[in-house]
Amino acid sequence: ELYGRKPFISGNWKLNPQTKEEALTLASGIASSINENSPDVDVALFVPYVFIETAISAVGGKLAVGAEGVCPHNSGAFTGGISTSMVKSIGVNWVLAGHSERREIFGETNDYINAQCLKIIDDGMSVMLCIGESLDEFELDLAGSVCEVQLKKGLMGIRKEELDRVAIAYEPIWAIGTGKVATPEIAQSVHAKCRAILADMYDQEAADEVRILYGGSVTPESVDDLMNQPDIDGALVGGASLDKDKFGRIINFKT
Ligand code: PGA
Repeated sequence: ELYGRKPFISGNWKLNPQTKEEALTLASGIASSINENSPDVDVALFVPYVFIETAISAVGGKLAVGAEGVCPHNSGAFTGGISTSMVKSIGVNWVLAGHSERREIFGETNDYINAQCLKIIDDGMSVMLCIGESLDEFELDLAGSVCEVQLKKGLMGIRKEELDRVAIAYEPIWAIGTGKVATPEIAQSVHAKCRAILADMYDQEAADEVRILYGGSVTPESVDDLMNQPDIDGALVGGASLDKDKFGRIINFKT
């Protein structure tokens, strides 16, 4: 555990599960996997809005329940939007921004993602900014430069003293939901590059304190080697966060 970066294991439920009852069972099952033998780790679950309060009541304070996104506006004529004030008022602290599915399927741009990040920080909450390159970009050796653009644009206007409320999730798109987890070496090298970019944007001290999580097909089988890398401070887990035993094992990673 370098520079006091506390490990951070998080789950992203996406468009799952389909009923409140399942959400309750899954959230309480995950919470029960955290025990006195667990590593000293922050745990958060990013869940659909409609399940946030159910999940909060199910986990009994053992982990944080976050929102999968927010609309960057205060109020008004934004049909279907959910504001930072709304999620904050029901107990949310962590909010995701910039997930590749939001970028690709919902057309969210770096500017829009930046507005979300600023709104989340301005309202006193914490943001997990997701970044990552496509397979084509990876094969062209562009992972570092894609991450540089997404980091610089996503965090534009966020001050150094606010970085303790920012986490980065590096999620190569080719690894998300594909079963093709990045090797620990590839992930480590991009994480180190991201930290160097943060040092360039802020300074080395600030960069050393930002947690950078890896996401993309993390499983109980791959988590330990990933967490053993010096610049990998956690995991953002999709598919395996829908299985209480798998996610429980990921929370209880071994280094
Ligand atoms: P995955 O999803 O673990 O199912 O690959 C990760 C994510 O999209 O955050």
